[in-house]
Amino acid sequence: WSNRDFPWTKKLEANNKKVFGNHSFRPNQREVINATMSRNDVFVLMPTGGGKSLTYQLPSLISPGVTIVISPLVSLIQDQIMHLLQANISAAYLSANMEWTEQQDVLRELCSGHCRYKLLYVTPEKIANDALLRQLENLHARELLDRIVIDEAHCVSQWGHDFRPDYQSLGILKQKFPNIPVLALTATATASVKEDVVQALGLVDCIIFRQSFNRPNLRYSVIPKTKKCVDDIDKFIKDNHNDECGIIYCLSKKDCEKVSETLQEYGHKAAFYHGSMDPDKRAAVQKMWSKDEINIICATVAFGMGINKPDVRFVIHHSLPKSIEGYHQECGRAGRDGQRSSCVLYYSYSDYIRVKHMLSHGLLEQNYNASSGRVLETNTENLLRMVNYCENDVDCRRFLQLIHFGEKFDSFNCKKTCDNCSKAQNLVDKDVTEIAKHLVELVKSVEQQFSASHILEVYRGSLSQNVKKYEHHTLSLHGAGKSVAKGEALRVLHHLVVEEILIEVVKRSDYYGNVSSILKVNEKKASNLLAGMQTITLRF
Ligand code: ADP
Repeated sequence: WSNRDFPWTKKLEANNKKVFGNHSFRPNQREVINATMSRNDVFVLMPTGGGKSLTYQLPSLISPGVTIVISPLVSLIQDQIMHLLQANISAAYLSANMEWTEQQDVLRELCSGHCRYKLLYVTPEKIANDALLRQLENLHARELLDRIVIDEAHCVSQWGHDFRPDYQSLGILKQKFPNIPVLALTATATASVKEDVVQALGLVDCIIFRQSFNRPNLRYSVIPKTKKCVDDIDKFIKDNHNDECGIIYCLSKKDCEKVSETLQEYGHKAAFYHGSMDPDKRAAVQKMWSKDEINIICATVAFGMGINKPDVRFVIHHSLPKSIEGYHQECGRAGRDGQRSSCVLYYSYSDYIRVKHMLSHGLLEQNYNASSGRVLETNTENLLRMVNYCENDVDCRRFLQLIHFGEKFDSFNCKKTCDNCSKAQNLVDKDVTEIAKHLVELVKSVEQQFSASHILEVYRGSLSQNVKKYEHHTLSLHGAGKSVAKGEALRVLHHLVVEEILIEVVKRSDYYGNVSSILKVNEKKASNLLAGMQTITLRF
């Protein structure tokens, strides 16, 4: 597909220079364009900033009709259209929140004899709408439906980290227009998500392009989160990125506002951004950030898709992200100009319990169909993988992220650009099977009604009021771990949760989002360990 002898090659190169001002193509751009122009179904995995838009905008210019682009967010669509109009490319969009008359104007233009549009962007729910489908059929009958582009295609998959129910109806497009090429684009998809997307969209003999997800200019680290997390963030920014531009991802709207307020007090030009804000206010904040009038945005994951700012020097996670895919994508917003940038994650195990609770109660932004079985299961599994990533203070962060996307990475090539690789490592493997067994047995002997911290207290022989109140100092395993360091026992316990031998069950949450939980035993997974048929080793 890198061949330059296609009938459209000359036009392609000329338009790339003249209309888009690019001197060359980025990796895979030419290949994707040649494949879609040859009328194949194409699936493209390209990291954020890789230049996905060009792979359909350029073909739209050298094709006779209209390209339909399905994109999830109106703000993202508006941003794209603004750029297209600046380049004198005729484009429009349809979304549910437009005035009805405006929508009629767009539909009318679409069925007019000389439709001006080269690109029509639509939000996914519009595809289920008969009026639009009728116009697409009309375009198709006049041979003016060039291709269908599905942006952020991972949103189709329930296995993905960003499932959107509206995307599920997109399979209808291939059913209605089997001979129209579909181009599916995403910056994030594991092998199973890719399969799911290809199947749900009904893509035929699909050509797949993917490139390395490694971002060599990003430096990754995970830092234990303390009560003074915002002070730590303030110091980190002042020491490493003073006055530079960055994003701080927070879990809840309240967190965004609190973190932003504290950073302002510390002298930073910070603002917050989340889904519950008035759209005008949100757009204003984004604009100020683009123009460098403020340099730090404290945001939920609602802030991100379509962010084109090239000089984001740091992405900080104030709380645990809900999946490795999401984390990788959020970090990917840093350093799009190729300059060195930092990705710092402040991790505490208690955030895991908090996120888990929010997931199962649908309290997180952009978290759809949360309480339904399969989605919740996937979300919980994704979250556990993220905990595993944070708990791992040994392996290369790049290796851990990339393996998740099915990409092998030799940690030698990390060149000490993650916290684990840059540590002077003097580690040994340690058999912790006995500790693990004791902890599981203890959870059972307190009737699976107590928290992780209570279990650790009993295990290490505490005689606190709480331990005595429940007479847990009389248990045979009380003090069994007297000689085990607290940190070590804690790591084993977290490992048991990650391996789903123990399960954290949320009991209560208060107004501030603090949650309390108890540990249960997963009998099926614990049986081998308790029967002495499983050993557990951790590296210390
Ligand atoms: P993605 O959607 O993959 O995150 P975009 O399509 O938004 O990436 O492109 C990211 C940036 O790269 C944009 O500013 C775009 O103008 C620029 N870009 C894309 N292709 C090229 C190219 N061939 N040469 C130079 N710049 C490019």
